[in-house]
Amino acid sequence: MASNRLTDRFGRTVDYVRLSVTDRCDFRCVYCMAEDMTFLPRQQVLTLEEIARLARNFVALGTRKIRLTGGEPLVRRDILSLVREIGGLGLRDFAMTTNGSQLPALADDLRKAGLKRLNISLDSLDPERFRTLTRTGRLQQVLDGIDAAREAGFEGIKLNAVVMKGRNDDEIPGLVNFARQKGVDITFIEEMPLGEISEHDRGLALCTSDEVRQILSRHYDLVATTEDSGGPARYYRMPDSDTRVGFISPHSHNFCSTCNRVRVTVEGRLLLCLGNEHSMDLRRVLRANPTSDEPLREAITQAMDLKPERHHFSSNGDVQILRFMNMTGG
Ligand code: SAM
Ligand code: SF4
Repeated sequence: MASNRLTDRFGRTVDYVRLSVTDRCDFRCVYCMAEDMTFLPRQQVLTLEEIARLARNFVALGTRKIRLTGGEPLVRRDILSLVREIGGLGLRDFAMTTNGSQLPALADDLRKAGLKRLNISLDSLDPERFRTLTRTGRLQQVLDGIDAAREAGFEGIKLNAVVMKGRNDDEIPGLVNFARQKGVDITFIEEMPLGEISEHDRGLALCTSDEVRQILSRHYDLVATTEDSGGPARYYRMPDSDTRVGFISPHSHNFCSTCNRVRVTVEGRLLLCLGNEHSMDLRRVLRANPTSDEPLREAITQAMDLKPERHHFSSNGDVQILRFMNMTGG
């Protein structure tokens, strides 16, 4: 019998699962995808029923937080039915990471379906630059999406910005100002070497969290907090605003020792670490055992032994992980 708590070899309890619901996306962000991507054939992709079954079993094994991601989760057809199903599992936290483009139409229904929190990616407030960085995106659609999300009454909304030197580092204070005006949080992310990209040299573009914080300290009074949202971000507050500023720093600050999460790709590959290839094929177990969940729970429990102690990203721009972020599930 599998126990109802997932623990790895280093004593870390895993109670947070990120489920990728698609590898597809309506954007082609320069740090995430190649311009010309080939997406997975349908039979390799988990059905929504299979994803829901995974979610139920992870919850039975002690998972308390689920995040849906991708690719762009909101381009998956019938995503609301999955959100409704997972929304009914009694999770402490249920979140989604999205590029925001479909939120004008979907924000309200997502909230009603039980989604609690949203992370919305936003790297630029300049329409032309936004188009360049996403290759296909329309800024106004995302801004409308952010407003729709605010009106829908989510428990928390956070903006995510990947900062790249020479591409959008001049917008750091402007993005914080925008978050303050909208009454949402914002997190700055160091670019990670996932998948081979051609548009810039990651080594040269890396803008560390320390550098971002230095730039911000010229404009805002940032006070470190010990707040923890159950993720790798470290948070700062400003005395004159409720907006929190977070930093995710896989290069400059290693967060592995408190890692409580695993990821499942849309092919059903359980990834034990963002920065390593250790994985287990859960799709095979799901499809070989359509009527019994016990083998699936055994497989998930055993996979915890594969979770490595830490990731080994280097900051010189070398690609260490060949899968793109849209495959990994950000
Ligand atoms: N499409 C959704 C979105 O953009 O929010 C969800 C998936 S996306 C892969 C999740 C997050 O990963 C986004 O905030 C994106 O900016 C970030 N991301 C993508 N590629 C990255 C990379 N190479 N390094 C760091 N962050 C990356
Ligand atoms: Fe799509 Fe998100 Fe990747 Fe951008 S970061 S290409 S929006 S999956």
